[in-house]
Amino acid sequence: MSFDVSAIREQFPILKREIDGKPLVYLDNAATTQKPQCVIDALVDYYTSCNSNVHRGAHRLADEATRRFEAARDIVKDFINAPKREEVIWTTGTTEGINIIANGLGKLLQPGDEVIATGMDHHANLVTWQQACKASGASLKTVPVTDEGELDQAAYAQMLGEKTKFVAIPHVSNALGTVNPVQQMTAQAKQVGAWVLIDGAQGATHGWVDVQAIGCDFYVFSAHKLYGPMGIGVLWGKEAVLADWPVWRTGGEMIATVTLQDATWNVLPYRFEAGTPNVADAIAMGEAIRWFTALDQEAVAAHEKALLDYATQLANEFEGLTIIGKAKHKIGVLSFVLDQGHPADIGFLLDRQGIAVRTGDHCAQPLMARFNVPGTARASFAIYNTLEEVDALFAALKKVRTMLA
Ligand code: PLP
Repeated sequence: MSFDVSAIREQFPILKREIDGKPLVYLDNAATTQKPQCVIDALVDYYTSCNSNVHRGAHRLADEATRRFEAARDIVKDFINAPKREEVIWTTGTTEGINIIANGLGKLLQPGDEVIATGMDHHANLVTWQQACKASGASLKTVPVTDEGELDQAAYAQMLGEKTKFVAIPHVSNALGTVNPVQQMTAQAKQVGAWVLIDGAQGATHGWVDVQAIGCDFYVFSAHKLYGPMGIGVLWGKEAVLADWPVWRTGGEMIATVTLQDATWNVLPYRFEAGTPNVADAIAMGEAIRWFTALDQEAVAAHEKALLDYATQLANEFEGLTIIGKAKHKIGVLSFVLDQGHPADIGFLLDRQGIAVRTGDHCAQPLMARFNVPGTARASFAIYNTLEEVDALFAALKKVRTMLA
């Protein structure tokens, strides 16, 4: 198999758009990726051919919808190498997955217990553990970030101890692109008996994930960063842990029996899936993963690496540009500031030239404070981006520099 970027681009209708008469150069993929036609078709097809509520109907449409919905769960199971399909819980996205676990953790922690998060966390990860600690009287420690934008492994090793009950680490930093050594960090946390959650929002978007190899207890991610729809994602958790984890939302589907005074809980995965699920988007998430994993993964990785390497080379040659985040192992993200101009101005002036990047704190305010910047401009790459688009970014940045001067 090989990798034909033009053929890939053809499958994304939105990439044909123009912005003020200029071709769209979409470099905001860490915020959300665009969707291939087959994912859009999966949504339309569901609503036009078998829309129905799942699990509880006695008719043909309900049966078909349930089959497709549960088949999507199997696709996710294989994608992350989960041992059991029951361990795959549908959520609205990474944020909800983290909240489900943090809510339960708040009830399990005792004063004196410690939770470890990191200085490069997305607010979805950091703020949620802050709240779990406040609710329980536990304390929160955060792994510092080095000047290169890596997690300080010596500091992490020092933090771990018998009080450590929970460790939450991003697989890949959305603001810096750093790929963290999650397997090694999980193994260290396991030595002190802590539970481990990996925030895979940016990790599951670049290829197969192997939750068994990582060894974590929980892995969470969102479909919309993986060529799938918004409003759907997955919490994966080890059956042995999830089966006893405190339930979060209550309501239909998550119960086994109900009396006027009490209720008992359903088995996994339904225990954590209260209410009518987002059936159409779950099916379309399955389609996105099916589409993505059918690509030659080595070629995909090589293409993404070529984009980042080329962008980094041009950034290093660009006068007045500082890259924020120079980790040895990086993926998909070039975050930078210019000597002149606030990141918001850079974003605005790039948009006038058809280039879509993200600017601001990237939901990582403590990380921006760590690097002493108000925010950065961030170009983030996906498989449909081209080296010509990287050239277009830097040609546009030259104009931005002139305008700001
Ligand atoms: N964690 C990381 C590392 C992210 O990049 C994001 C989104 O940008 C999130 C969590 C939250 O994801 P979502 O908004 O899809 O729930």
